[in-house]
Amino acid sequence: MHELVVISGKGGTGKTSLAAAFAHLAEGKVLCDLDVDAPDLHLIAGPTVQRSGPFLSGHVAEIDPAACTGCGTCANVCAYGAIHKEGGRFTVDSSHCEGCKVCVAFCPEQAIDFPDRLCGTWYESETRFGPMIHAQLDPGQENSGKLVTLLKTKARAQASSRALERILSDGAPGIGCPVISSLSMASLALLVTEPTPSGLHDLSRVTELCHALRVRSCVLINKADLSREYQAAIHAYCEARRIPVVGHLPHDPAVTEAMLRGQAVTEGPATPFGLQVRQIWPGLQHLLELPSPI
Ligand code: SF4
Ligand code: SF4
Repeated sequence: MHELVVISGKGGTGKTSLAAAFAHLAEGKVLCDLDVDAPDLHLIAGPTVQRSGPFLSGHVAEIDPAACTGCGTCANVCAYGAIHKEGGRFTVDSSHCEGCKVCVAFCPEQAIDFPDRLCGTWYESETRFGPMIHAQLDPGQENSGKLVTLLKTKARAQASSRALERILSDGAPGIGCPVISSLSMASLALLVTEPTPSGLHDLSRVTELCHALRVRSCVLINKADLSREYQAAIHAYCEARRIPVVGHLPHDPAVTEAMLRGQAVTEGPATPFGLQVRQIWPGLQHLLELPSPI
């Protein structure tokens, strides 16, 4: 099974638009949106949900008012200020509860439950591009790396059960926990960058991350016409590290227009940008299917 993860060192590089375009062009794959903090691939893919379920992670304290005698011990021992007295009752503010369980241990009445915390929802869907695995993390919830791992497991299971050879994932921006989880066991990372000082800086961070995780990488320069100087600098950087540059794409309003139509840029009216993406795909596919050197 070949797993391509599209990532970028930061947001706004066109990563999701390109992931959607490759999703349109690639055959026999499971599509996966791993940007669980701010998913938007569904806006283009238009999924019809077939199955969904809760993403549970950690725990949260809940006071049983019927068993609570109002002694106040829990509020005193909570180091996070999550327990308050309201309307004569002690209650837990779940947004401040860190799930440390101290209040549970100190409550003399065993009046505090400690259930799993609901942090989001996962989805298994069908789209015009094929099956899609995606999720939504609830606002303020953490453990996005754990949710990414869950989605990747579901994507692999779906690919196996449907005899599909590829998984195409839209990863999270940055280099944090969800990106590290996105890259786990990936065959190839496509690093989308742009020729600016911050683009080069962020590219260096994600290439180092891929190197540390022993994931092969290649680079696609989007909005390549922004700066010839930084385009050359990115090429020099990649050449020194033997990272292939698979293509350049211009800054083109066709990308936004396609997104507003709910389409991949390779769907609908032909545009120079869409044609260039089509030309890039065979080379990228070839890289994806190369045997891993590790
Ligand atoms: S420690 Fe237990 S009994 Fe005391 S106020 Fe808290 S929940 Fe109620
Ligand atoms: S589990 Fe910890 S953080 Fe949450 S309310 Fe109890 S003492 Fe406070």
